[in-house]
Amino acid sequence: MAQQEDVFKKLVAHCKEYGFVFPSSEIYDGLAAVYDYGQNGVELKNNIKKYWWDSMVLLHENVVGLDAAIFMHPTTWKASGHVDAFNDPLIDNKDSKKRYRADVLIEDLLAKYDDKIEKEVEKAAKRFGESFDATLYRQTNTRVLEHQAKRDEIHSRFVKALNDSDLAELKQIIVDYDVVCPISGTKNWTDVRQFNLMFSTEMGSTADGSMKIYLRPETAQGIFVNYLNVQKTGRMKIPFGIAQIGKAFRNEIVARQFIFRMREFEQMEMQFFVRPGTEMEWFKKWKETRLKWHKALGLGDQKYRFHDHDKLAHYANAATDIEFEMPFGFKEVEGIHSRTNFDLSSHEKYSGKSIKYFDPELNESYTPYVIETSIGVDRTFLSIMAASYTEEQLENGESRVVLKLPAVLAPIKLAVLPLVKKDGLPEKAREIMNSLKFDFKCQYDEKDSIGKRYRRQDAIGTPFCVTVDHDSLTDNTVTIRYRDTMQQERVPVEKLHELIGQKVSMKQLFKKIVE
Ligand code: ATP
Repeated sequence: MAQQEDVFKKLVAHCKEYGFVFPSSEIYDGLAAVYDYGQNGVELKNNIKKYWWDSMVLLHENVVGLDAAIFMHPTTWKASGHVDAFNDPLIDNKDSKKRYRADVLIEDLLAKYDDKIEKEVEKAAKRFGESFDATLYRQTNTRVLEHQAKRDEIHSRFVKALNDSDLAELKQIIVDYDVVCPISGTKNWTDVRQFNLMFSTEMGSTADGSMKIYLRPETAQGIFVNYLNVQKTGRMKIPFGIAQIGKAFRNEIVARQFIFRMREFEQMEMQFFVRPGTEMEWFKKWKETRLKWHKALGLGDQKYRFHDHDKLAHYANAATDIEFEMPFGFKEVEGIHSRTNFDLSSHEKYSGKSIKYFDPELNESYTPYVIETSIGVDRTFLSIMAASYTEEQLENGESRVVLKLPAVLAPIKLAVLPLVKKDGLPEKAREIMNSLKFDFKCQYDEKDSIGKRYRRQDAIGTPFCVTVDHDSLTDNTVTIRYRDTMQQERVPVEKLHELIGQKVSMKQLFKKIVE
């Protein structure tokens, strides 16, 4: 674990050093849990957004886009339930004065028991070798069974406390199982209190004419309140979806994990409207489609898992997370929820306007049910960076840091490098770059030795380096060097476009999603 934390620290430092992520307003010592994306970060982020957007609106003819405003009429948040129920249970440690989410402390406790069980199984696997039967061991070993029983006991108390909104019981679990503050190491806890996560501000200039409004805590409501507009003007037939990418704001209680938990972040959400009664079928379908989207990136299938919710949100009748193995454990990257007709009926009630759909096949009107897929851009960014960051020992004794980003997402697709700064090589390099720059983000670099230049490109994840040397002037060929294998190949200049184009095309990923 300590080693993993070390890797995470290095990753955060790398993100800053190479222009991916900076703390917000850093010259004023930053602003907690707010970050800015630098010159490379913004390219990666835009590529992630494009991959998601196109996977929605190109691959599904019944999914269309939307870009709603961040500010919304305040009644929206009454109707959605956020004013009354968008709370997290918080608890303070009186000695360290640190604040925690009580539910997260208990989830971490559960994860500790999971770890203990896994360690027992791993140890036994080593001891018994090939004949080892892990399933049998889990069912029979007394130490594993003890841990499992403890875990189950905590888990069932936790689920009950969450569902009953029993704050005293949440604290009692923390006390009963000796959860200590990681900073002070003590159990000196305050009571658990509810804390609303929405930011509010005033709209309008005069004191009595102004109105309290909220910064949206999710983008979804912008879709719900536009449901009728899109359905009517787009002549959409159920089932259909509306996709949106945009900023969301939450006054998170604890914000310590870099861009994993931010107070201003970006979501990519798609609300899929279906006939009541068919929602479980669509829930299953979207779970599968979304997992394929993640896996198509090639970061490793074993890094993803589904995690069903212990407590359903106030609007959901089924919910699961897609979790990714971050350096600090498996964590949610995307939520897939069956939101019933909660939001649309509630907006009907509060607005007094009918949001019914007339289904010509059934010859009846109903309020559609909704399946939501909601993924954080920033968490996806973090998962991709974490999986790509690699430190390698090379055969010649040197080491390198390389970001093995999926080529389609890399901020810079190719670097064009003249071997020397003279003899017409820079001009030739520029000529090559000019012919490729309409299709690929290219970078020109002539400073330092070629080795150093390769390392710089490795560190920002550039999949291809094209080196121009003296021979290039006569035979119009260049050396292309591949980031991951470091292999080099001589290719004609006119082949570059096709060679690079194939590798950085999103088409190959999309094919994996639809197959
Ligand atoms: P968590 O339990 O971690 O607080 P959540 O269940 O509240 O997350 P959702 O409301 O389901 O999250 O939001 C959908 C997605 O938005 C999440 O899967 C995540 O990727 C992203 N997201 C939510 N909150 C944040 C945040 N504070 N910072 C960055 N991304 C976030």
